[in-house]
Amino acid sequence: MSSIWVKAWMRTPKVNCGLCGRAACTGFARALVVGQLGLDDCPILGLLDYRNLRAELEAMINGDSTPRMGIAPELPEGGVLFTQPCKDTNDRVMAELSLHNGVEPGESMRFAVFDPRTLCDLMNCLQSQFDLVKCSRDLGYGRADVDEMNITVLQDGRINMRRVKNRDQVMNVFGKLERALVGATICNCCGCDLLSILSGCVEPVDGDRHTVYDAGTNMSIDEKRAQLPIRRADVELTLDENAEHALNLIRSLADHLESGMAQLLDGSIKLFRAASSEKARCSLVELITNPSLYGNETLLLKVLALVRVVYDALCGISELAEILTFTPKEAHDAILKFVSLAQSGELALQLEATDDQTHVLAYAHSLRLNRAVRLLQEWVR
Ligand code: SF4
Repeated sequence: MSSIWVKAWMRTPKVNCGLCGRAACTGFARALVVGQLGLDDCPILGLLDYRNLRAELEAMINGDSTPRMGIAPELPEGGVLFTQPCKDTNDRVMAELSLHNGVEPGESMRFAVFDPRTLCDLMNCLQSQFDLVKCSRDLGYGRADVDEMNITVLQDGRINMRRVKNRDQVMNVFGKLERALVGATICNCCGCDLLSILSGCVEPVDGDRHTVYDAGTNMSIDEKRAQLPIRRADVELTLDENAEHALNLIRSLADHLESGMAQLLDGSIKLFRAASSEKARCSLVELITNPSLYGNETLLLKVLALVRVVYDALCGISELAEILTFTPKEAHDAILKFVSLAQSGELALQLEATDDQTHVLAYAHSLRLNRAVRLLQEWVR
């Protein structure tokens, strides 16, 4: 059965515009469920076409399905909770590990450890390194096999391994899994995943820092670097011969974004397909899990966060192209004004009050472009 957060997210507009103060609707859904934000904080839910979703969300938050806060457990050194012999074989052991999301033991946990959608996006990138990778976005449950070993990943951060050879194998596999999946850990202050926070699009709530900066069990996030803009020069300097690959991925997505915005503005766009970000995402996960690059996690996760923002902007272009198709020509100028401002990164995160549904949606989707353009401006600076 889906968790309350997944159920709430399924009823959000899924526009990921950031007008509610969260980078994406997943963060809004979590903040709504725990009462940090209200339905009125999402202007899209105020539109006529979204009234059913709003009513369903209202029923959810007024019902008795509010989750109870958990308490962050004690983590043993290295995150290994225990090992014991497997019941079905004498020469293999079982291990239960925990991925830390930055909440200190004994403190209240507002949310789960993993964002299920981000978790599955990242897990699916492990196909080349593990066999039989499966992940359920509804349940926040992942599974992978390697060398007779069975691994399960749970939404609460636990990673169970069965039929493991020895402790070295446990730590070796955990090291890779942790680096691949830490981007999906949820911040206890705002309900956003680490990748959203590393993109710089979410301010901390209830305090002066994001708790998820302390995520990681056998690796750590460099908080200072996490708060700096991500720049091409840093990647070139830090990753040496591995840099070219990462740079090419960003270049190709950025070109696609640029040509999409130009097509919107010159009226040549009919149907726009967002380029798949999967290849770029998985290439970066491969770099993050490469032991020779251990120590560069924060930088690589920031590049991954950038890829995700640019991909989201490409999805925004598809939506804008569709809006233009169904909107009378005389209304196009107002929409294209938003796109034009977004093209130079000058669209403000402030929506003027209006009842015009097309206007609000065009603005919201243009904000997705604006966010990507701003990050890309920093990237090349
Ligand atoms: S304001 Fe935008 S990001 Fe926030 S919930 Fe609404 S549609 Fe999603």
